[in-house]
Amino acid sequence: MVKSLNNIRQEFPILDQIVNDEPLIYLDNAATTQKPQAVIDAIVDYYQTDNANVHRGVHTLAERATEQYEAARQKVQRFINADQSAEIIFTKGTTQSLNWVASHFGPQVVQAGDEILISYMEHHSNLVPWQQLAQQTGAKLVYIDLLPDGQLDLADAKAKIGPRTKIVSLTHASNVLGVVNPIQAIAQLVHQFGNYLVVDGAQAIPHMPVDVQDLDADFYAFSGHKMLGPTGIGVLYGKKTLLEQVTPVEYGGEMIDFVELQQSTFKELPWRLEGGTPNIEGAIALGAAIDYLNQIGMAQIQAHEQALVAKAIPALQTIDGLTIYGPQNAQDRTGVIAFNLDNLHPHDLATALDMEGVAVRAGHHCAQPLMKWLNVAATARASFYLYNTEADVDKLVQAIQAAKEFFQDGTL
Ligand code: PMP
Repeated sequence: MVKSLNNIRQEFPILDQIVNDEPLIYLDNAATTQKPQAVIDAIVDYYQTDNANVHRGVHTLAERATEQYEAARQKVQRFINADQSAEIIFTKGTTQSLNWVASHFGPQVVQAGDEILISYMEHHSNLVPWQQLAQQTGAKLVYIDLLPDGQLDLADAKAKIGPRTKIVSLTHASNVLGVVNPIQAIAQLVHQFGNYLVVDGAQAIPHMPVDVQDLDADFYAFSGHKMLGPTGIGVLYGKKTLLEQVTPVEYGGEMIDFVELQQSTFKELPWRLEGGTPNIEGAIALGAAIDYLNQIGMAQIQAHEQALVAKAIPALQTIDGLTIYGPQNAQDRTGVIAFNLDNLHPHDLATALDMEGVAVRAGHHCAQPLMKWLNVAATARASFYLYNTEADVDKLVQAIQAAKEFFQDGTL
């Protein structure tokens, strides 16, 4: 049965609190999301009843822990429609997943004179690892332009993708502009030349249905903490034939088959890439987060966030001196809205909103080249999730107006 979003807030205990004498309105979901009781319980239950190391013991607890850990992998597999669970590698998060592809797959396909293509909207996690790879191999890092409203310039992508473009790495959804990139179309262009598409799914997976086979992504990275799960757990999906080419990042326990004095053999995927005791509790809790999201349905979550944005954008546009970055139409956006108020530093704005109980982010959002492209040093950013309501949008708008008046005439 599909679970309704009405009253869902009650299932997130942290949201029921007063901050600076006001009820908390949490609008920093692009940074991290809050956890439902079901996810908190999964962590507690694991430690209270099943805690043991995985894959090594034959005793009952070890078998239970292993079963739950591997069941979590299968939940991830089904959630993103991967072809097999061997294609799901547990990592610390998006950053680690992208770094592994850049540093342990990249050097095998990129040579001096080749090109690596990213865009101006990338998070530093999908930029700096490619910069490093380019510097180490003598390849060139090339950027896809954005259209004036912040959407990816597909014509520019078409013009820049060619036989020398060994890797294209793009975010699926921007953590600043709120745009969703045409991954399928890019995959077609890249695959025409037999090359590879890496996707940063950190801001997409939590907010919309994602099917990695349909997208035809070669690698897809995301973080548990942005989708109701805990920190310290994330996923690297890769097509099996490509993951087989990724060299292990860490050698040691869990990933070996036989060790002799001078040489060793390694396990098959996915364990070959998971050296050492993994984040067992994190994977199990991520599985619980996926169960929770599935009870609601990703399409319903996406529609809910779109409705909030459709209310927020026109309301924010009525505030004199407020600039929204990215497309101005709600239908072209995810639940991320970056904005600035004239003559007010976003940190001051975010501090004033916090005084009203409204938690938003201010800064460069780990996207300094994008800030340069937007010609700003920083922005404020409100980002919605399934537990936010229309009343939260009203409160955001009221709080911005109050902040504006305070900074104009000194009365909050
Ligand atoms: N990419 C994007 C688009 C993000 O928004 C983030 C998180 N802000 C990351 C990558 C990095 O995720 P993590 O810090 O969980 O590794």
